Amino acid sequence: MNEFSLIDQFFKPLGEVAASTSPNVVLGIGDDCALLANKADHQLAVSVDTLVAGVHFPENTNPIDLGYKCLAVNLSDLAAMGAIPAWFTLCVTLPEQDPEWLKNFARGLSLLSQEFKVPLVGGDTTKGPLTISLQVAGWVPEAKALKRSGAQPDDVVYVAGDLGWPFLGLQSLQNTVNMQSEHLARARSRFLRPVPQVVLGEALRGLASAAIDISDGLTADLGHILKASGVGAQLNRQQLPLAAPLHTMDQRTQQAAVNFGDEYQLLFTAPQSAQTAVIDATVGVGFTVSAIGKIIADNGLWDENGEPVESQGYQHF
Ligand code: ADP
Ligand code: MG
Repeated sequence: MNEFSLIDQFFKPLGEVAASTSPNVVLGIGDDCALLANKADHQLAVSVDTLVAGVHFPENTNPIDLGYKCLAVNLSDLAAMGAIPAWFTLCVTLPEQDPEWLKNFARGLSLLSQEFKVPLVGGDTTKGPLTISLQVAGWVPEAKALKRSGAQPDDVVYVAGDLGWPFLGLQSLQNTVNMQSEHLARARSRFLRPVPQVVLGEALRGLASAAIDISDGLTADLGHILKASGVGAQLNRQQLPLAAPLHTMDQRTQQAAVNFGDEYQLLFTAPQSAQTAVIDATVGVGFTVSAIGKIIADNGLWDENGEPVESQGYQHF
């Protein structure tokens, strides 16, 4: 199979699923460029992530899971800005031609591509060590994007959902933790198939003062908001919403779990005066959020006893 029939067979359909219903795409895969429609009074939020085999995922990762997650983590970045997905592009570097692998990889992508009606509009296919680079773009109304830099002293810090499932999911896949079967299923699915919180991000427009999706870990990602906003925070460790199986585990494990990252849930701040509006808006779209601390003027991250909280999380360098 040559490069072009490979693109036609596996990638072109990912443009067609949603493109027919998408007002964003004038011309998709197949020409020298894609042609994408503009949207009045909106800004385009754009993000790209590269995943390298052996660094970001094991070489033998199930290609369906890999395809799913590549798109999920990028859609999560759009969610964290309050943007609605419009289209994506994909660069794949493959060590060899493996139609079965490609079919499954494309299937993983199509799960989210269809759910969020976000078509693939172009990309590049090359030979080399397995590397996936995926770019997404989404619309956000002018000046309504949720940035990291807007947190103000006295704002409340919120997190959506409960934390630690992806950590447990990875441990369960490595057979290093015991859990009841319903918890096992939940943990694995939260690790392998995170659902981007696009609907929540949209609901937080005009309410949240700052937002981020938790990819590096709770304290690391909160640290990103604090740094961008030039503020500090007090974190109530007692109020962290922990995944159910963590309740019976020791404190060190709990801490490792909330700082593991890979959650793709939203962490955000909002003024105290907006507390009721935040709860109403988030419940309205089916999310639970927990108030886990507050923003303070002094830099640094502290716990409820005034002890410094060390920022932990994954870094490449
Ligand atoms: P060019 O030589 O102009 O870069 P290519 O041969 O790389 O064109 O690609 C031909 C068409 O296929 C282009 O429209 C390109 O966007 C698309 N394409 C190539 N690889 C991919 C891919 N992995 N996913 C989606 N579209 C792709
Ligand atoms: Mg090319």
